[in-house]
Formats: sequence, C-alpha cells, structure tokens
Amino acid sequence: MNVVYNFSAGPAMIPKEVLYIAKKELQNWKKSGSSIMEISHRSKEFTQVAIEAEKDLRDLMSIPDSYRVLFCQGGARGQFSAVPMNLLRNAESADYIDSGYWSQCAFIEAKKYCIPQSILIRKKINEKTSLLPMSEWNITKNSVYIHYCPNETIDGLSIYEEPNFENKIIVGDFSSFILSRTINIENYDLIYAGAQKNIGPAGITIIIIREKLIRHISKISPSILDYKKISEHNSMFNTPPTFSWYLSGLVFKWLKKEGGLKRIEKLNKKKSHLLYTKIDSSNFYINKIEHKNRSQMNVVFDLVDPKLNEIFFKEAFQFGLMALRGHRIVGGIRASIYNAMPLEGVKSLVKFMSYFEKRYG
Ligand SMILES: *Cc1c(COP(=O)(O)O)cnc(C)c1O
Repeated sequence: MNVVYNFSAGPAMIPKEVLYIAKKELQNWKKSGSSIMEISHRSKEFTQVAIEAEKDLRDLMSIPDSYRVLFCQGGARGQFSAVPMNLLRNAESADYIDSGYWSQCAFIEAKKYCIPQSILIRKKINEKTSLLPMSEWNITKNSVYIHYCPNETIDGLSIYEEPNFENKIIVGDFSSFILSRTINIENYDLIYAGAQKNIGPAGITIIIIREKLIRHISKISPSILDYKKISEHNSMFNTPPTFSWYLSGLVFKWLKKEGGLKRIEKLNKKKSHLLYTKIDSSNFYINKIEHKNRSQMNVVFDLVDPKLNEIFFKEAFQFGLMALRGHRIVGGIRASIYNAMPLEGVKSLVKFMSYFEKRYG
C-alpha cells in the first residue's frame, strides 16, 4: 500500500502506531479471549483502562486535583447545551465570544436556555481577518461565564492568548485545540472537546471542570449531560463508548511516549510554519488571516484561481494526499494537521503544492 496522508478535519487521522496496537489486540484483548468492545464497562479490566486514560491525560495536561475529568457522550454539540444547563441556575446571562462558525453554533444553542450576549471579535482590515486581543473583548458585567473557542476548525482561526478575566467562569470549546500545545489549566474553569479531532475516534467527549463548579443535580438537564450525575458515577452513569475510550487512552500513551505536549507543540509549530511559508511565498496560493491568529491545526487557504480547485483535489489524491477539501460553507482548501499528522505528511503536501503550481501557475 502506498503511503496516504489524511488531512481530514474530523473524524481525523489517528497515529499509525495506535491503530497497529488496536489491530493486534482487537480479537483477543489482554488474553481475555474477546475484544475490548465486548466486555462490561463495569468490569475490573475496563475500569483499569478508564483509570489509566484519565491518569495519562492528567499527566499530559498537568491537570490539578481540584479539577474533575469526565468522559461523556453527545459530542461538543452536546456541551453547547450542557454548559448553560449546568452553569446557569436562573435565566442569567452569559457572554459568547464570536470568532467563527463553531462559536456561533454554541451561541445559537445557548439561546434555548438563557439570554446569551454575542461578542464579535472578528475584524477584517485590508482583506486580512484577525481577532481582537482579550483585553479588547467587550465582556458584559452581569454574565456568569465567558464561552469561547480557541481554535475555529472551519475558519482556520486561533486564539493563543490565555484568559484572565476577574470573577468570570471561563469555558472553552477545545475540540480542535486540546493536546496541541501546553496550556495552564488554572486559567480555565471548564474545557470540553469531542474526541474525533485531536484525540481518538468519534463518540467520546472529554470535560475538564473545576470541581467546585459541579453542584447539585440540575432540574432541567438530562441526566446524561448533568456534570454532577456523570461525576458521581465516574463517567459511567450510562454505558460509555468503551472502544472510543480505550483508543483515546492508547493515543494518550502514544503522546507520552512521543515526549508529551511540549514536544508535540514544537512539532505542530514546525508543521504549520512549513505550510504557511509555502502559501505566503507564492502568488498562486493565498491565506488571508493575520499571522497571530493563524491556526496551527487547520490550515485554510485558497487557490488564487478557484477554477483549479477540483483538479487540485483530484491530483492531490493521486499523490496520496486525501481530504483537503475545505468545509462546504467556506469552500477552498483546508489541511488539518493534528498531532497524528507526521512532519513527512506536511512535507509531502508542500512538495505537491510546488509541483502543482509549476504546472498550472
Ligand atoms: C467539530 C467541532 C464541534 C462539533 O463537534 P461534535 O462532536 O460533532 O458535536 C464543535 N466545536 C468545534 C470547535 C469543533 O471543531
């Protein structure tokens, strides 16, 4: 089989080594005679998998004991509802920072539960998009929490600054940002992320929450989205997606072996730098995002002549580069280069881009 690099935005690439282990263990997991998918989530064996996954994630992200880690279902979109239901008691308000597609979706969902304030931080100057620094965010006085998205997966926009707002609960949609670099957890109160971008297969959603925010069981929240309920049951109130949990655990072990987040952060910088440098050095490809807000996970760009798009995707595919099509609502090209994408994959894309430009430019 020829090497194929998968630039899908999600479900996305999983490290080859991890898939290899999963394959080897699939039919006879730890000499149990069955696969991990076929045993009880309450068994001693699976409980061990769950404990190790949490421990490895805590090690990787340096999560203090004052935070709980919950594994639940419903994806990031489930959290769009869970966050207001769990954090707001009455019809209080919350600030929703608008940086792009996903943060807007979170805002729209929150309207069902409260009167959220949308705060636009995106601006366009001379055709270049940038995001306002946090010091210029128009936070409202009465909001209980601030919700924002540090990496807009579709728009290719990132916020690298860490929040520091007094007396506000900080909630982050980390779906395509988690584990891509080191962060200081203490700057956040609640982080959530669907697994299918930078963790493992779809099906599991990770929540890292300051323990003191987990209060009494909510009257309105469905039990499966209730932080207190999930926490009391050690993330096993209902049957969890055990395979997804197991595989995410293997990814955490892989990341530790690769040198942890410091090392992966360096590599992610290198990978994205290589790609943006290629784009910037040509008049054939274009990216219109201010440098400080360019995503290192989702590199979004266009061909100056969009008529060439289809042929670009077709030839890229023949070159062993798949899933480069931009999201249907923005079009263009998007190369998602999460942790699992090796440097060689990005080099191969850059090589193809030069080759393509030479023939069509
Ligand atoms: C993919 C994505 C979502 C949606 O995730 P689901 O798990 O499909 O609900 C939300 N936010 C961000 C930032 C994403 O990248």
